Amino acid sequence: GYLYNIAGWGDPYFAVNSSGNVSVKIHGVETNPTQEIDLLAAVKKAITTKNLQFPLILRFPDVLKHRLDALNVAFANAIKYTGYTSHYQGVFPVKVNQNKHVVDDLVKFGKHYSFGLEAGSKPELLLAMHSLINGSPKAYLVCNGYKDMDYVSLALVARSINFNTIIVLELEDEVDTVVRASQALGVRPVLGIRARLLTTNPGHFGSTSGKHGKFGLLEAQIYAVAEKLKELNMLDCLKLLHFHIGSQIPTTSIISSAVREATGYYCNLVNIGAPMGTLDIGGGLGIDYDGTRSGSSDMSVAYGFEEYASAVVQAARLVSDQNGVAHPVLCSESGRALVSHHSILIYDALSAVEEPSDSVTSAELISRLDELVGNPTTLHANLKSAIQSQDGSNNTSLTHADQLKKHGVEIFKLSRRLAKQLEAAEETTYAYHMNLSVFSLTPDFWGIKQLFPILPIHQLNEKPTQKGRLIDLTCDSDGKVDQFIGGAQTLPLHALEQSGSSGYYIGTFLAGAYQESLGSRHNLFGGPNLVRVESTYSLGGTFRVVVVGAGPNAADQLKVMHHDPVEMLHAIAERAKEAGHWTPTALQLLKRVFYTMPYLFGEA
Ligand code: PLP
Repeated sequence: GYLYNIAGWGDPYFAVNSSGNVSVKIHGVETNPTQEIDLLAAVKKAITTKNLQFPLILRFPDVLKHRLDALNVAFANAIKYTGYTSHYQGVFPVKVNQNKHVVDDLVKFGKHYSFGLEAGSKPELLLAMHSLINGSPKAYLVCNGYKDMDYVSLALVARSINFNTIIVLELEDEVDTVVRASQALGVRPVLGIRARLLTTNPGHFGSTSGKHGKFGLLEAQIYAVAEKLKELNMLDCLKLLHFHIGSQIPTTSIISSAVREATGYYCNLVNIGAPMGTLDIGGGLGIDYDGTRSGSSDMSVAYGFEEYASAVVQAARLVSDQNGVAHPVLCSESGRALVSHHSILIYDALSAVEEPSDSVTSAELISRLDELVGNPTTLHANLKSAIQSQDGSNNTSLTHADQLKKHGVEIFKLSRRLAKQLEAAEETTYAYHMNLSVFSLTPDFWGIKQLFPILPIHQLNEKPTQKGRLIDLTCDSDGKVDQFIGGAQTLPLHALEQSGSSGYYIGTFLAGAYQESLGSRHNLFGGPNLVRVESTYSLGGTFRVVVVGAGPNAADQLKVMHHDPVEMLHAIAERAKEAGHWTPTALQLLKRVFYTMPYLFGEA
């Protein structure tokens, strides 16, 4: 466990138990003291009793609930200790995980906090409305994203049937769409404005923040929209100011400065005469993927829920007090921070193959070095002469400079190779072939090199003896995991006892946010089986597993690409009949291949 820094990124949800397996800790009133679910036992139960194949996503609703509770408690405490006179009322941005069970769970667990949802498109609005039927009537239904007449009309219909819907204007032109839809339906909207802040989020995910960001209105445009609403006699509809400066904000000082800036705009809107009431600070509450709490990269943030909430509340209070404006209700659209921990992707190893080393001998390297550097004295003289010619008019010096550049590059390459060779010589590496598609299951690793904690979920009381890279099933050179948290290119792994269905299981953790909806269909592998692991302590048991979604089978995947599986099966059968090779076994085989998941099915 220590090797994989579970204590760093996994606390308080993951630990290693006395059997050497990862355990998932369940915190809660009913389970006081904390209970643990053995992850290997849960996986085994899913594959044996439910006859499921890998890859699997195991979801732990108890963990989800704990995240939601912890976020709400953090804000409640910050509000209490700061003397803030309003409350926190968050929403979950469904884009982060649109899975029905995740959204429904959050609405259910969040009902007594009036926790709501955020939608960014028409289908998301539909699913959010459906889910909030069981939520609190006060819960916000925030509508973001680019909007057409239908989107705005649907949002207005939602308001007319008593969902607390807020249409957030992202562009000045959206005012016209809202006015038209509102007149057509005879429904008065509640509106918000998305501000484009000058405060920037420096990480990868912040590229849409700042003055040149993709979304929202700059300060002058915000007031222009307010003026326009005033002219239309609709300023009383304006009740929220929103911003989102990107995901995974690294430090609380950036959060604090964003909230101060936005609260300033909020107060000005109040002074113009808008009723306002809510400041929606968007997403960005981060996850410490590498467990270092350094805040120095996209992998790590230097704060937890308490520090985040306290930075937000203090900043909002400071600026509203300075402006003599009542404290706004604080809403956040935290996605990643709520759902990352609760779901774990599990896959099995099929084989581990020693990787060929491509190193040259040391003698070869040294002779290449001699050749490149040549006589060090000449090198020195040439360098001097190149530097002395400042104006570049001396042709001889230019040639020398050019040569030196080439030498420099060659020497640099050579030294890198040497370093790699030394590393390689240290230990052989193994290619672990995994029942996995990186493209379908962890698209952010493939697309933006987002790293997740990855480790075997058992045997953690035995020292791993091999260094491995994970190779997936796709026929694509990018279909591998060869970068791990901490900068290593290999992962310490155990030797496999057997190939095929090896019984060696690896988990990708903190993968509950964004991965499922971004997933692609490379090689038509598609998604995993979804399994819910529910604690049953309150019923006197330990846990139960419920299959909530079967991964797409080959026929499903083919249909997406406009093939017709029924016609295909028929045509292949015809062909087999003509060849005199049509048997019941062949039919069964074809049916099985069409109607099971495309991943490898190990006969356990
Ligand atoms: N709100 C908006 C408008 C977003 O675009 C996003 C994600 O990009 C979020 C909220 C969720 O952000 P996070 O997952 O960082 O909490």
